[in-house]
Amino acid sequence: MGVVFLEHLGGYLIYVCDTCDAYLTNRSELLSTRFTSSTGAAYMFKNVVNTLHGNAEFREMVTGSHVVRDVFCKRCNVRIGWFYEMVSNESQYYKEGRTVLELALVSERDNFGVNSS
Ligand SMILES: [Zn+2]
Repeated sequence: MGVVFLEHLGGYLIYVCDTCDAYLTNRSELLSTRFTSSTGAAYMFKNVVNTLHGNAEFREMVTGSHVVRDVFCKRCNVRIGWFYEMVSNESQYYKEGRTVLELALVSERDNFGVNSS
């Protein structure tokens, strides 16, 4: 398949794929920490790069109908979260086009790789 070109948004505190260390996003893109997934806590981000989206799935939730897609790491193809493509409930519009990353599947890093301790 050749070389996978990865994007980088910069940032001091960054989030990377737990499996292959691919850059995903940074702290300034963080919108909400109040999500839960099958693997535990999950964070919603405004922009996430280096991901691939799975097939659109229709899900009925307490907050209304949602069209979501699984999100995979572009480098290692491991599933790392999900993406909100469409929501039916007006109060949920802030989720549209946003990506939720599962904390068990990604790592938070200091971009400089230096621990001051
Ligand atoms: Zn990966």
